[in-house]
Amino acid sequence: SVHVGLRGVSFDYGDGSGLHEVSFDVPRGATVALVGPSGAGKSTVLSLIQRFYEPDAGSVVLDGVDLRCLSHRELRERMTYAEQEPAVLEGTVRSNIALGLPDAPESRVRAVLHEVNLATLEHRSPEGLDAAVGERGVRLSGGERQRLTIARALLPGRELLLLDEPTAQLDPANEDQLRQAIRSRQGRTVLVAAHRLSTVLDADRIVVMESGRVVATGTHDELVRCS
Ligand code: ADP
Ligand code: ADP
Repeated sequence: SVHVGLRGVSFDYGDGSGLHEVSFDVPRGATVALVGPSGAGKSTVLSLIQRFYEPDAGSVVLDGVDLRCLSHRELRERMTYAEQEPAVLEGTVRSNIALGLPDAPESRVRAVLHEVNLATLEHRSPEGLDAAVGERGVRLSGGERQRLTIARALLPGRELLLLDEPTAQLDPANEDQLRQAIRSRQGRTVLVAAHRLSTVLDADRIVVMESGRVVATGTHDELVRCS
């Protein structure tokens, strides 16, 4: 797995919003939660780690190496991102999973389908023409699409998982199941963005953001004690 560090990162979207001198670490193999209200800068942090944008000041380091020294290809191979609003996915549930598991035995694809509770929907298209209604319609619910997006993020080979409010649309049973699936990926480093402190009880460390700044860091218990 990999260590991620933000070192005094500032980034301006051009209108004064963005990040102001953000620093924190995601230790190798740890799960760190980024918590804060909407607009706090959580998604911007996840974007900078993927090098969608370059910091105006400061740097993001991966195992001590500045992201600017790594190719986009290398970044893509080392990290995976499950976004908050899953993109439109082509093909079927099964083909989406199989795509991330080239040469994997049938049993492995099946195991992943079960792990995210999508085995009964394996032949559905995430989105497409709904023959019954005769119009373009959604074939998977928001929660089902979110589970598929996370399943793709859990596929093997990536050392760093970036999750943006990964289970916001899920019911408690599916949320528990997915949380376990994420936790069972031992040796992976996980950075997860969330609105509320109460949903990230199991993170090793929490980084609280507000208006583009880090305002507190600590374990869940430490943060609850002084708030
Ligand atoms: P969060 O993920 O915590 O909700 P964001 O990182 O999305 O916060 O947003 C941080 C700030 O940057 C907000 O003030 C938001 O309005 C602004 N912002 C986000 N994306 C853009 C963008 N593409 N262009 C301009 N401002 C943006
Ligand atoms: P809400 O939308 O209800 O305010 P959040 O936006 O805070 O909740 O949701 C963030 C999501 O991140 C929660 O649904 C939670 O299950 C999920 N989450 C929290 N900790 C972890 C973790 N360690 N691994 C994966 N997902 C997590």
